Amino acid sequence: MLNDLTTQPPDKILELMQMFRADPRPVKIDLGVGVYKDATGHTPIMRAIKAAEQKWWESEDSKSYTALAGDAGFLDAMVALVLDDAVAREKVAACATPGGTGAVRQAFELAQMANPKARVFTSDPTWPNHLSILKHIGMEAVPYRYFDNDSGAVSFDGMLADLAAVETGDVVLLHGCCHNPTGANLTLPEWQAVIELMNAKGAIPMIDIAYQGFGDGLEEDAAGTRLVARSCPEVLIAASCSKNFGIYRERTGCTMVICQDQAQRDLAQANLAHLNRQTYSFPPDHGARLVTLVMNDDALRADWQAELEEVRLGMLALREQLAGELQRLTGSDRFGFIAQHRGMFSRLGLSPEVVKRLREEHAIYMVGDSRINVAGLNSETVPILAKAIVEVGG
Ligand code: PMP
Repeated sequence: MLNDLTTQPPDKILELMQMFRADPRPVKIDLGVGVYKDATGHTPIMRAIKAAEQKWWESEDSKSYTALAGDAGFLDAMVALVLDDAVAREKVAACATPGGTGAVRQAFELAQMANPKARVFTSDPTWPNHLSILKHIGMEAVPYRYFDNDSGAVSFDGMLADLAAVETGDVVLLHGCCHNPTGANLTLPEWQAVIELMNAKGAIPMIDIAYQGFGDGLEEDAAGTRLVARSCPEVLIAASCSKNFGIYRERTGCTMVICQDQAQRDLAQANLAHLNRQTYSFPPDHGARLVTLVMNDDALRADWQAELEEVRLGMLALREQLAGELQRLTGSDRFGFIAQHRGMFSRLGLSPEVVKRLREEHAIYMVGDSRINVAGLNSETVPILAKAIVEVGG
C-alpha cells in the first residue's frame, strides 16, 4: 500500500533553511523563513509571555480537556483583539485552532461544507501554504493579480479586474495586513472598493491575519479586517498568534466567522466545533491560555504592547536603512518600495538567477521569488545585503 504514495513537493522555505544551516561560510545571512529575529538573530520569548507562563504554572490545577472550540476566554480575547467592537459578539462564531494554519484550514473547510462548489480567489502571489491546503482538500484556487513586480506596489486595477469574475458563494481570500510574501498592502479606500465588489457579487470575504501589530500598529493593522466585518454580512477570519505573541511552537490561532444573526452564529459555531472534533478534537490550550492571561491583565498587556511596538519599529528602521542604502548605491529610487512595505516581508523583484547568485556568491539566503524576511537583517548586515544586490546586478 505505502508504495502507492506519491512523492510530495518539498517545502521550498524549509529546504532553504537546511541549505543555510549546512553552509560553512562564517558570514552568512538568513532572510528565508518567516520567524521574527532580533538583532542578534535570536527569536526571543516575549517578556509578558514568560510572566504569564510563570503565573499559569503556579495556578494551573488540571490538564483535563478544555471545550471542543477551545477556552471561551481565549475566543473572547481574540475577537476583541482582531475585531474590537466592529460587530456584536453574539454574531461571531469562533474556535481555537493549532496556529494560524489550523485557522486557515478550518475556515476553508467550513466554506467547503457550506458550499461544495465554492472557489477561493487568492492573491497572486500568496502564502504558498494557502494553495497547497486548497489543493489538498480539493478546493479550486483562482489567482487574482495583486503585485506589480516592477514598482513593488499593489496592482490594484488588475486586482479589481480579476475579482470581477467572482460568483455568488465564492470566497475571496485577503491578507489582513503585512501581505506575505510581498509586503504590499491595500489602503483603506482600496479595501472599501473590494468590499463593494464582493457585496455586489455575493462573494464571501476570508481574511487571513497573521501579523497584527507588525505593520502600522495593532489597531491600524486590523482596520481593513474591521471595515470588512462592519460592511459584509458573512465573513471568515483566520488569525494567528504565532508572530505577534512570539509563540510559534505553541500552535495558537483562531477561526472566526461573522454571521448575519444569532441563529446563524449558533449553526456556524456547532460546525466549527464539529470540524475541530473531526480534525484533532480538542485544540491546544497552552498558548491560548498565555494569550488570554496577557490580554486580560493590564500590566502584562501594556508590557506586551510595548515590546511588540519595539519589534515593529525595529523592522521599520531596517526597512528605511535598506531602502536608503540602496538609494545611495544605485542613485535611484528603484528600491524605495522597501520602506513603503509593511510587516516582516518584502518581495524585492529580483530574478531567480540573481537570488541564486546572492546565495552562491554572498551567502545571502532569500526565498526564490526574492522575498526577504526583514527581521533576518540587522544594522550591520543591511549594507552587506545592499552592496551584494548591486554587485550581482539586481
Ligand atoms: N497565514 C500567513 C499569511 C502566514 O504567513 C502564516 C505564517 N507563516 C500563517 C498564516 C500561519 O502561521 P502559524 O500556523 O505558524 O500560526
